[in-house]
Amino acid sequence: MATNPKFVILLGPPAAGKGTQATRLSEHLQLPHVASGDLFRYNLKNQTELGRKAKAYMDQGVLVPDDITIAMVLDRLSQPDCTVGALLDGFPRTLAQAEALDKALAEKGLAINGVLNISVPDEELIERVTGRRLCRTCGEPYHIKFNPPKRAGICDKDGGELYQRDDDTEATVRNRLRVYWEQTSPLIGYYRDKGILVDIDGAQSIDAVTEALKAAVAGL
Ligand code: ADP
Ligand code: AMP
Ligand code: ZN
Repeated sequence: MATNPKFVILLGPPAAGKGTQATRLSEHLQLPHVASGDLFRYNLKNQTELGRKAKAYMDQGVLVPDDITIAMVLDRLSQPDCTVGALLDGFPRTLAQAEALDKALAEKGLAINGVLNISVPDEELIERVTGRRLCRTCGEPYHIKFNPPKRAGICDKDGGELYQRDDDTEATVRNRLRVYWEQTSPLIGYYRDKGILVDIDGAQSIDAVTEALKAAVAGL
């Protein structure tokens, strides 16, 4: 028997560990991982019109305008693999995005099932960002100190080359953190008021965070 579609959001500041946990949790929940940042990077790499529009915003560490972002993510959610739901990472990031998502789901008689709010102190986030490396092939995040690959510069999963994101500099991350506190953190209250937010301490080991997330989604 088909189960009801499930929509789960990973909320949290830049480098809180959303992408790291999403790989594990999407497998656990059997849901596709939909990351707005990955969608933008895919478009940048393939030099699409959307990628061209998003580039300047991403380079500065500010949000891409809502209309562009909402259209991109809702289009992704309309793909056949998302009929089972999705694990959303990095979206929504503004109240307008959250409302647009609620509306699109409500039109299909659906709603967000749970929001996992991962918190990490700002100073730790800066160290996480500056040491982050990503696989060019699969996008898996690593950290030179906290989560190094078995062989330096090489992805454990597929042997892909690891690279550093252009926007993972200390200057840009300070901007991204400011944007998070101003534009994204109001979503914590928005979802708490709906009774679907669970707080997760992200300042623990990667495995401990995974366990906390699995416990939080057990009842969904
Ligand atoms: P986000 O997707 O939220 O931006 P990532 O999953 O890419 O964050 O993680 C940011 C960086 O922090 C990566 O380099 C990752 O390896 C590292 N990281 C993730 N979770 C932890 C953790 N619990 N402890 C230490 N480092 C972590
Ligand atoms: P991320 O990979 O989540 O760190 O996102 C990288 C960059 O992509 C951000 O700094 C923004 O410029 C842009 N971006 C990603 N998701 C969103 C979103 N939901 N709304 C607006 N901009 C976004
Ligand atoms: Zn890889």
